[in-house]
Amino acid sequence: MARKALVTGGSGGIGGAVAERLAADGMQVWIQYRSNSDGARRVSDRIAEVGGTGTTICFDVTDMLQSRQMLETVLDGEGTIDVIVHCAGITADAPFPGMDADQWRRVIDTSLHGFFNVTRPLIMPMIRQRWGRIVSMSSIAALHGNRGQANYAAAKAGLIGATRSLAREVASRGICVNAVAPGFVDTGMTKDLPDSLIKDVVPMKRAGSPAEIASIVAFLCSDEASYMTGEVLNVSGGIV
Ligand code: NAP
Repeated sequence: MARKALVTGGSGGIGGAVAERLAADGMQVWIQYRSNSDGARRVSDRIAEVGGTGTTICFDVTDMLQSRQMLETVLDGEGTIDVIVHCAGITADAPFPGMDADQWRRVIDTSLHGFFNVTRPLIMPMIRQRWGRIVSMSSIAALHGNRGQANYAAAKAGLIGATRSLAREVASRGICVNAVAPGFVDTGMTKDLPDSLIKDVVPMKRAGSPAEIASIVAFLCSDEASYMTGEVLNVSGGIV
C-alpha cells in the first residue's frame, strides 16, 4: 500500500518540490497550504500529470484547534499518516531594536508552534504502527544566527531542539525525526535577495533549487534512512 505523506507549506517553493518528489517516489501526498490555493492546486496538478496522487488541504498551522480538527478528519479517512514534512514558515525580518512583538510572535508561531500543532495529532497512530518519518525544515540561520532574523533563528533553533527531543522519544518505535537546514534556496522567500549577496556568502556561488532540498528530504523519508535520527543536515552549498 502507498505510504501517506503530509507536507505543510506545500503551496510554497520548497514544500511544493517536496510534495512532487514524494509523490514521484510513490507516496500519496497531502499538500497543506494556508492562503495560496492556486499554488497548492498547481502542485497537485503537476503530481496528477505524472500519475501521482496529491490532495490539497487548507489550514493555518498556528491555529492549534483548527490544525487538530483538520488532521483528525484526515486520520478518520486515511488511518495513519506515515510521513510528515514541516515546510510551513515565514520571515518577518527586522533589526532587533526595531522588531515588534507581532514580528517576533508570528515567526515563532509558524515554524515552532506549527511543528507541535501538526505533529501532536499525528504522532500516536505513527507510534502504534511502528514506522514513520518526520522532517523539519530548519535553516542555517538556526546554526549561525543572522542579522535581522533573531525571531527566525530562534524559531528554527527551537525546531531543532524539538526535532532532536522527539527523535529520542520515538527512536525505538521505528520513527526517524530529522531536520534539514538549507542555506539560500530559490523561492518566493528569497526573491528580493541580491545575487551579489549570494555570490559573496555561498561557496558554490548560487542559491540551491527547491528540488535539491527535496532530494535530501526524500532520502530522509525513505526506508534507506532507517538508522539516521535526530540529525540536522546542512544543505547550503558549502556554508559551514
Ligand atoms: P515559501 O515559498 O514562502 O513557502 C512558505 C510556505 O509556508 C507556504 O506554502 C505558505 O502557505 C506556508 N505557510 C506560511 N504560514 C503558514 C501558516 N500559518 N499555516 C500554514 N502554512 C503556512 O518559502 P520556502 O522558501 O518554500 O520555505 C519553506 C520552508 O523552508 C520555510 O520553513 C522556510 O523557513 C525554510 N527555509 C527556506 C529557505 C530559503 O532560502 N527559501 C532557507 C532555509 C529555510 P501559503 O502561501 O498558502 O499561505
